[in-house]
This record gives sequence, structure tokens and C-alpha cells, in this order.
Amino acid sequence: MKAEIIAIGSELTCGARLDTNSQWLSSELEGRGWTVHRHTTIADDHDGMVRVFREAAQRSRLVLVTGGLGPTLDDITRDTLAAAFEQPLVQDDEALAHIEAMFVSRGRTMPERNKVQALRPQGAMAVHNAHGTAPGILMHLEDPACTIGVMPGVPAEMKLMFTEQIVDALPRSRQVVRRSLIRTFGYGESDAERLLGDLTARGRNPEVGITASQAVISLSITSRADTESECERLTAAARDTIYQRLGSAVYADGNLELYDVVARQLLDRNFRLALLEGPTTGGLISQWLTERTDYAACLSFSRMFPTPQSISPELTADGGLWREHLRKQADRIIDEQQADYVVLSSPSYVVQDGRIRKQNGCVVVVGRNLDEDYDVSMTGNLAIFRNRAARHALNILRLHLESQS
Ligand code: ATP
Repeated sequence: MKAEIIAIGSELTCGARLDTNSQWLSSELEGRGWTVHRHTTIADDHDGMVRVFREAAQRSRLVLVTGGLGPTLDDITRDTLAAAFEQPLVQDDEALAHIEAMFVSRGRTMPERNKVQALRPQGAMAVHNAHGTAPGILMHLEDPACTIGVMPGVPAEMKLMFTEQIVDALPRSRQVVRRSLIRTFGYGESDAERLLGDLTARGRNPEVGITASQAVISLSITSRADTESECERLTAAARDTIYQRLGSAVYADGNLELYDVVARQLLDRNFRLALLEGPTTGGLISQWLTERTDYAACLSFSRMFPTPQSISPELTADGGLWREHLRKQADRIIDEQQADYVVLSSPSYVVQDGRIRKQNGCVVVVGRNLDEDYDVSMTGNLAIFRNRAARHALNILRLHLESQS
């Protein structure tokens, strides 16, 4: 069954605040078998909101709305909902008593203005808000058949109201929807799509979506069926096809980063990694591998590469000599730090004639039966190149460790 979400607030449309409510509600609804097909974000605009409410009710069996339930003049969700479905606003005595009690419990007298929060369109229900003064609203329309649930904008209040009050009042979706994630590294978005072919066609069940972020291609598999087991069967078939077509580019079944996978591979085998990172990877690998205390055991050494001034221009001008130099350093680190593998990334610039000159970055990954290196173009946005360069190094390690198991 189709659902949609409407986020209300000029602070969202002007860019001052990110709409996180819709994201959270979508994943909650999808997990309960709803297909969320639309998000709308709208400013506190009377006519616009009336129109959006009417259109949503025509399109969807369920509409969830957040925001605009406060006591101030710009909180107009109650008024516009009543106007959209041509109902008068009536006072909900229970809601009013709750708001008054909330003020008393805080040692304050309720301002007259807060009374408006106890209003609801006639025929709708006020939804108790145990954690704030703004009650929610639940409205069941018959023609068009649509349930509208309105919750406060404050994310913490919205989440509690949804799970404690709204969920049980919603129509049950008979469909099961399951979403799973596969992560890959090594292909670009278009190559991945070409290899997956028909699997990514729109309207297919399961639906396979491709998103690219920082050189990682994530494939989301969304299966819809009447039963959990049918969903699992559909997902497993799509997963098998993805593994066949993308092969070793698949690095994780689930929401994992490359460094999670490599850290686990190293820890499983009691191997230790040493890192000497220059601006080419910018310390990113060290940062990732120290984000979790349980990964610390796979690191034997981590340091930033010496400052560019200490590197002679003659050395870096010749790619071959430079690599030889990096390799010697790597060998020394392996001996001194009792490491099994080393990732060494070079500075991307050197000082020449008193001026900083940009060079291509170079990364060396060496260790037990492993000896690879690659150049990284450092022209353009450094943050993007660093990310790629760091992930590439981890991917070399991952593929090597997989091939050894
Ligand atoms: P209250 O009366 O408790 O303020 P409200 O329903 O009037 O509730 P708003 O005034 O619209 O809520 O928003 C309250 C706070 O919640 C604001 O800080 C706002 O930026 C934030 N907020 C509103 N909508 C969203 C949203 N969709 N995602 C994230 N934050 C939101």
C-alpha cells in the first residue's frame, strides 16, 4: 500500500534545518510493508499546505505529516488540515487538560495562546503527547480512503508518538517489504549498471537501486511479497545474480565500510598493519581504523609521512626512484614494527626552488606475498582523491587477504 510523508516548516525549505523526520518515518513504514512513494517539504504557507494535503489524500492510503503543531502564529497545520477536508476546528477537552497539566508540572501557568494546540478538525482524534505540549492528530477519511497522522516536528517527540501511539492506529499493510544492501568497490556507477543489466530495470520485483558515494557503489535490493519467505527467496536470487555479475568487486553483504571488512580480515588472522600516510591518503586509513576500539589490535603503527621539505625533488621527479624509496621505507617499517602489511602513501607535493609543487600521489601496499602500488592524480578536489586513494589501498588488502584464505 502506498504511503507518503509531508514535512512542514519554513526552516526546512529555507535550508536552515534538514528534514530528518521523513527519512526516519520512511524506513519505519517500509519495514512495516508500506511503499513510501513521495516526500513533500513545504513552507508554512496556508494555501500551499491545503493543496498538498488534498493531493496526498487522493494519491495515498496513508499520509504522515510532521511539524507546525506549535502554539505560534506560523504553526498552521491544524487550520490547514481542517480547511483541506472542510471540517471545523473543535476543542479537544482531554488534550487541553493535558496541556494545562504539562504547564503546571513545570511550575508555569499556561499562556492563553497554547489553547490552540488542543484544537483538532472535527471527526479527527487528538493523539496524546506524553513528552510535549503539542498533541498529534489522527484522521481517517472515507472518500478518498486515507489515514492522515500528524505529529510534532521535534524529532524526539515525533519518534515516540509514532511508535507509542500512531503505529497501532494505522491500517495494516498486507505486504512484506524487505530491503538489503550490497556494497562494491572497483566499478563506476555506469559500469555496474551495465553489468547488472535487466536487474536494475524500474518496476521489477525485487527492485535493485544503485547509489555511488566516495567510490563505493551500493546496491539496495527491495523485495515485496505477501510473505517473509517469498521476500527472502526473491532477495536471495537477486543477491546471487549480483555476486555472479560483479564478482570480487562485492566486498560486503550489509552496511559495512571497506575498513570494517579489512579490519576483520586482519583480526581473524592475527595480522598487523602499519600505516605511514602522507597527504595522498591524508591519514584517512588511520582515522577509520581507530574509530572502533576493537580494531586497534590490527594496527601495529600509524604515523603521518614526514613534511614535504624533507623530501628531495630529484627523488620525486622520477617515478621509479620514488617508488623504490617508498618500498625501502616500507620494508624497514615491516622489520621495525613487526607488521605483516604496510600501506605507505606519499606526499602529493614537494618543495622545489623554495616553492611547493604538486606531484601525483603514490601509494604502496606491501607485505606477505603482496607488492602493489598505484599513482593518484591529485589535481582537483583533494578530499575526493584522498578518499579514493585510501579506499583503493584497503581494497588491495581485502582482495589479497581473500585470495589467501
Ligand atoms: P512544537 O510545538 O513542539 O515546537 P511543532 O510541531 O510546532 O512542535 P515545529 O515548530 O515545526 O514543530 O518544529 C520544532 C522543531 O523541530 C524545530 O527545531 C524544527 O526545526 C524541528 N523539525 C521540524 N520538522 C523537522 C523535520 N522534518 N526534520 C527534522 N527536524 C524538524
